Amino acid sequence: MIVSAGARLLEGAPIASEIRAGVAADVAAFVAAHGRPPGLAVVVCGRDAPSMVYLERILKACAAAGIDGRLREIPDGSSEEQELALVAALGELNEDPSVAGIIVQMPLPKGIRLRPVVDAIDPAKDIDGIHPLNAGLLRLGWDGFVPATSHAAMEMLHRSGVEIRGAEAVVVGRSPVVGMPAAFMLTREDATVTVCHSRTRDLPSHLRRADIVVVAAGRPGLVTGEMLKPGAVVIDVGINVVDGRIVGDVDFESARQVAGAITPVPGGVGPLTNALLLAHLVRAAQKQAAAAAGATTSAGVTPAVSTAAATTPATTTPATT
Ligand code: NAD
Repeated sequence: MIVSAGARLLEGAPIASEIRAGVAADVAAFVAAHGRPPGLAVVVCGRDAPSMVYLERILKACAAAGIDGRLREIPDGSSEEQELALVAALGELNEDPSVAGIIVQMPLPKGIRLRPVVDAIDPAKDIDGIHPLNAGLLRLGWDGFVPATSHAAMEMLHRSGVEIRGAEAVVVGRSPVVGMPAAFMLTREDATVTVCHSRTRDLPSHLRRADIVVVAAGRPGLVTGEMLKPGAVVIDVGINVVDGRIVGDVDFESARQVAGAITPVPGGVGPLTNALLLAHLVRAAQKQAAAAAGATTSAGVTPAVSTAAATTPATTTPATT
């Protein structure tokens, strides 16, 4: 049995508070420049979903950062009526210049189709990266909005000084909102990535060679210490309620004996996710304000700089291999 002195604890709160301070400063600068705060619309179909706690936390964080966070409730009705109302509300929010970012409560209630809903979000306001355009940009290695949770997992690695280039990384979970985006981001940063999922035949055999493990399966205690390579960095994205307590997907007590570093649940990736979502919102507001200023310029005001210098492409060069 491998016994270590105990893994380094990768806590989200200190990093999140740094990010939030940066967001508050950017919001103040935005208000000074534009005379209004950036706006975030949170669209919900019913307030009783478990995710409402998460959404209320985001609205509270908006208020603390000076962001104009608003709840947009879709009235009760049949699935068809609610889907139509949801798509219509998204259309209105897309057109509203005071709204820079939109997030939709997930999972959607049964009967509401995901595809028409994600298609209806303006990709420029899709701050949680669920629109197919943003998903495609990530797949190509180009700049766009990425899901905040996967971004949080990466940010935790960056800010903790973990070497990603060349590392063996295993992502457990292949959902389009957490596992796959994390796998693409790790690949973009030159890790060698294996994606494991519910049909993976021998999960421990993959985990045992991983320098970096990102777990997003929604299965409490799925990954235990004996499955890990000694010294591995373990990022636990899972959030599960067991006997009234919030736990991750990693069996923390056994894993910390073997891992080199590990995120706790709660207190690891979660706080970072919320802070990064607000950072995405501010970035969206800044880009939209710059685009609106550009549109005014092309509508008749003399440009201060040459058009060539002002039209920097929004995307970066794709990864070559
Ligand atoms: P999901 O249900 O959409 O996907 C779960 C994935 O795990 C699937 O790809 C599935 O194949 C895989 N999986 C399930 N059982 C497995 C097993 N036994 N072995 C290997 N793989 C298995 O869930 P999701 O939306 O990706 O969320 C995953 C977890 O992350 C959940 O616990 C969720 O609550 C949490 N989450 C956390 C945050 C955060 O901010 N920390 C945000 C979103 C989701």
